Amino acid sequence: MIKTPIVKFNIKDLDLTTSEKKVAQTLMKAAESIAPIYEKQENHEFPGANFYPHDATKEEIEKAAEKNPGILNPYTMVERGAGGKLIAIPYHVKFKSQLGKTSKLLEAAAKLTKNHDLAHRLHLQAHSLLDGNYELSDIYWLSMKPYKIDIAIGPIDRLDDKLFFKKASYEAWVGIMDEEATQKAKIIQQEIYDVRRKIFSSSQKADFLDKTKLRVDKTLIFSGLFARGMFTSNSLPVDPNLMEKYGIEITFFDSSLDVKFAKQHYPIFQSVFEKEFQKDYSKEVLREGSFRNVLLHEIGHSLLRYKDSEERLKELFPVIDELAATIYGIKSCASLVLKGIMTEQELEAIMIMFICRAFTWWLDSQTQPSVEPFALGHAIALNYFLAAGALQEQNGISWPNFSKMFMAIEELSNGLEALISLGSRSDAKYFIDKYGSFMIYSSFVNRLKGLK
Ligand SMILES: [Zn+2]
Repeated sequence: MIKTPIVKFNIKDLDLTTSEKKVAQTLMKAAESIAPIYEKQENHEFPGANFYPHDATKEEIEKAAEKNPGILNPYTMVERGAGGKLIAIPYHVKFKSQLGKTSKLLEAAAKLTKNHDLAHRLHLQAHSLLDGNYELSDIYWLSMKPYKIDIAIGPIDRLDDKLFFKKASYEAWVGIMDEEATQKAKIIQQEIYDVRRKIFSSSQKADFLDKTKLRVDKTLIFSGLFARGMFTSNSLPVDPNLMEKYGIEITFFDSSLDVKFAKQHYPIFQSVFEKEFQKDYSKEVLREGSFRNVLLHEIGHSLLRYKDSEERLKELFPVIDELAATIYGIKSCASLVLKGIMTEQELEAIMIMFICRAFTWWLDSQTQPSVEPFALGHAIALNYFLAAGALQEQNGISWPNFSKMFMAIEELSNGLEALISLGSRSDAKYFIDKYGSFMIYSSFVNRLKGLK
């Protein structure tokens, strides 16, 4: 039996009033109620999960979509109708009865909260789940003043659709803002944005730097695809046209990162790096390095949105896009170090944790196909480092050559941005075939035994 896709985080000392607690609890129930819908969509045995009939080929679906664009709409399930013809059924019709429950819980939370903005947004969200018009509630969310309790709920990420990267999976999170961590993260974000503002960019580039919001949350619950992927951050909306109009909101899930660091990143550091080398880096500096990887990844995303890149790169887009974001972010740290906002050792910790996170993605991808693009992207980077002479392995990775690694990062970042801004699917395919070998991971298999 597969586990129900719900993860609850145990968080001590939450700074909430009694009434706020009630709101949060009701939102958690709403989040939980979305899990059964996700279970109907997910199916790791088929690249198209349950979004398309299992016997339908990619060609048949594409052909049907030419006549009926609803077939490749992000919010429809594709089924066989009369005579075996492919038909598209909107999510809000297909899952109507379950969504009714979720919507009621959101309305209940809207009545409980004393924050007017949140109440209005929950009301819009409850409606959008039932009528399939998600844009309105997204827009309101992006324009509202940040509030300490937050929820995202509905069909959002498209990672489960390995056939076309079109269909959105149901998922939800509920979080409470961590003010201090949020402020610290904003300093790094602003510095990187200031540098980027000085660079010329093409007309296809989506520009929304002044409308980017960022928050670090103590997460209470993940449901649906979020629970499966145990993601550490998210950026919404996903449509570059909406981004440009209304900006984006980036959320960091610190609770999820805590779990990942303790169970994966740190034990991996202890397994793949040479013992003497490990002594130079404290657990705290590495934990911060791990958070900064996530932070830089999302900052990178926000700077690398091109309106036509999905169309050009097709199903290979996530591999290139996810890697490019992190690599661009790390590259941008040069100016932070020069200005004394970050120490050299902190930058090294970021690169060390980048390597550890690569192994995490690889291990996760063996049971969780939705993270495959991340594992493949990181394999590309590790192979790139190896070719640049930045990494060597004998009794574990000993002192990496950080200056070579940083130069490789700069070069790789330029190559990836070229693919995102101008490249074709076949350019991306060539690049992935050249550098994307998973052999790099297998040479570490023995060291990673015992890790989940
Ligand atoms: Zn990403």
